[in-house]
Amino acid sequence: MKRRSFLKRLAEIPVLGFLWRHLLSPTESAGGPASASFRRVRPSDPSWPTAASWEKLKQDVGGHLIKVESPFTACESSLESASCQEVIKNLRNPYYIGDQAGATQSTGWVDAWISAPSVYAVAAKNTDDVVAAVNFARENNLRVVVKGGGHSYQGTSNAADSLLIWTRAMNNIVLHDAFVGRGCEGSQAPQPAVTIGAGAMWIDAYNAVTTVAGRYVQGGGCATVGVAGLIQSGGFGSFSKNFGMAAAGLLEAEVVTADGAVRTVNACNDPDLFWGLKGGGGGSLGVVTKVTLRTHELPAFFGIVGATITAVSDAAFRQLIGQFLGFYAESLFNPRWGETVTFRPDNTLSIAMLFQGLDRKQAEDVWKPFLAWVARSPAELLLTLAPGIFSQPARKMWDVEFLKKNAPGMVFTDYRPGAPESHMWWASNQGEVGIFWHGYESLWLPASLLEKEQQKQLADALFAGSRYWRVSLHFNKGLAGAPVDAVAASRDTAMNPLVLDAFALAIIAGGGPPAYPGVPGHEPNPTVARQQATAIAKSMDELRKIVPETGSYVSESNFFERSWQRSFWGANYSRLKTAKAKYDPTGLFFVHHGVGSEDWSPDGFTRY
Ligand SMILES: Cc1cc2nc3c(=O)[nH]c(=O)nc-3n(C[C@H](O)[C@H](O)[C@H](O)COP(=O)(O)OP(=O)(O)OC[C@H]3O[C@@H](n4cnc5c(N)ncnc54)[C@H](O)[C@@H]3O)c2cc1C
Repeated sequence: MKRRSFLKRLAEIPVLGFLWRHLLSPTESAGGPASASFRRVRPSDPSWPTAASWEKLKQDVGGHLIKVESPFTACESSLESASCQEVIKNLRNPYYIGDQAGATQSTGWVDAWISAPSVYAVAAKNTDDVVAAVNFARENNLRVVVKGGGHSYQGTSNAADSLLIWTRAMNNIVLHDAFVGRGCEGSQAPQPAVTIGAGAMWIDAYNAVTTVAGRYVQGGGCATVGVAGLIQSGGFGSFSKNFGMAAAGLLEAEVVTADGAVRTVNACNDPDLFWGLKGGGGGSLGVVTKVTLRTHELPAFFGIVGATITAVSDAAFRQLIGQFLGFYAESLFNPRWGETVTFRPDNTLSIAMLFQGLDRKQAEDVWKPFLAWVARSPAELLLTLAPGIFSQPARKMWDVEFLKKNAPGMVFTDYRPGAPESHMWWASNQGEVGIFWHGYESLWLPASLLEKEQQKQLADALFAGSRYWRVSLHFNKGLAGAPVDAVAASRDTAMNPLVLDAFALAIIAGGGPPAYPGVPGHEPNPTVARQQATAIAKSMDELRKIVPETGSYVSESNFFERSWQRSFWGANYSRLKTAKAKYDPTGLFFVHHGVGSEDWSPDGFTRY
């Protein structure tokens, strides 16, 4: 298949045609340049940089300018070719995806976005490369995209007709015994910390900080998420109920702002920009080149509790939900316990809780009363997966050798020749590798719902929601119940303060297999996708009924969220806008539902 006809086929797919036209030729859909005050340039515009200009940029970045191709270039001649099939197979490996300038970890979202390669990428090796790319984009009026781990659900690290600043190779890691931010000498006590290149993945950080050095750094749950992307969106890991949000651990960042300046920001330098980077959303305020994060003493143990319980009737499921909520409020609502339970339409409760600081016996004692209650009703409640409670030395949490030996089904590793041995991903994340989203809703649930007299209405809402779709509660993504210092540090971020009073984040989401428009056998099914999106929305409506003030956080949320400014940042949004106006007055950095994006067309090319 020739390139032109291959791409044309993508555009002709009826449901995706709208998106394709919208994303690739959106000047018309944005009302056209005549009605706009400012428009960025595309390759079809006369003012697109000349070949000589691109060549000059290439020299300025040490040769690290690359022409970006769709991963499916290999499929243009034949979908059956070995090279095409190899690509399709590898696109289930998150490390392979991360190594492609033209790919993203989600393949798209129905009626929202489809992964599209940039025209060029600066595969930055250092801060100077980033500065050169930022200056080039500003001077030539280009649409810029910044990509680290490529995990954005919202599609904010890809855009057609753009210049990509790709930080993948900037992944150096240095540990400090006594770090003090630049300019904070005398006002800040030295503390243990780690400096991490913006393009590093969390697995690299965990390997260096925990497996090698025996300490803890608060990052995300998914091993392949990018460090800088997660920090800027707040960031929660399995143990955030004890250590707080990942962004709250930020001590200092190096950032290239729209004027091309390299700034070392912290509580003492550019504190407004520093604050904005802590949860204000990635890709809006500048390009972060490295971050320094607080490290903590490692607990002795990390552990997991897994079980699934299926109720034989609706009445028994209602009772089970109520009993679990009472048990959670009484015994698990504290810094030791995080992660997830899911209430399913087939009346199943799935439990996948993680704990820290308890050994196996202590964890078993915590769960005894609840499991005994379940065991008393064997005819009503079936243990479809018998309870398993395991604990391990915390230092082994991300130790691939240990995990392969002791929990072989839980991890996959990057199988490509030369891949670092530490590069694993959790089997539980496999379903999201390459996912094409159908719907995604999230909502913080206030801790007041756990009060005894409120538990019934929460149980009723969870039951009602689970009639439409599976409802998950992520207890580690709400900070009610966390230690005072973790809450205080998280308060000093741009995140919506609702997170501080939430005991959990409810996530209701679904998607299909990787979707590659134009690749037969791998195309999205929009009819099914939209049906599921409707069911997901109805499910969340049941929870919204009992939550007076709704909010969520930017990275795990609905692409179509209407009042996103209030939802993601609450009263902090005006302060974020002030920082945006100061550090990026012309709006060089644009992402969907990012700070200041309401001033732009949905594709970020036209300023209203
Ligand atoms: C499978 C999966 C699991 C996840 N699990 C968790 C979880 O456990 N906890 C959690 O909190 N979140 C989780 N997330 C959400 C994730 O943290 C966010 O999507 C995060 O922003 C991704 O960062 P990234 O660098 O990987 O992605 P990217 O798509 O590269 O970047 C995300 C955003 O940040 C911007 N950005 C990236 N790097 C920079 C930089 N150096 N400077 C400026 N802007 C930058 C991008 O422009 C983009 O807008 C998960 C996502 C996926 C897909």
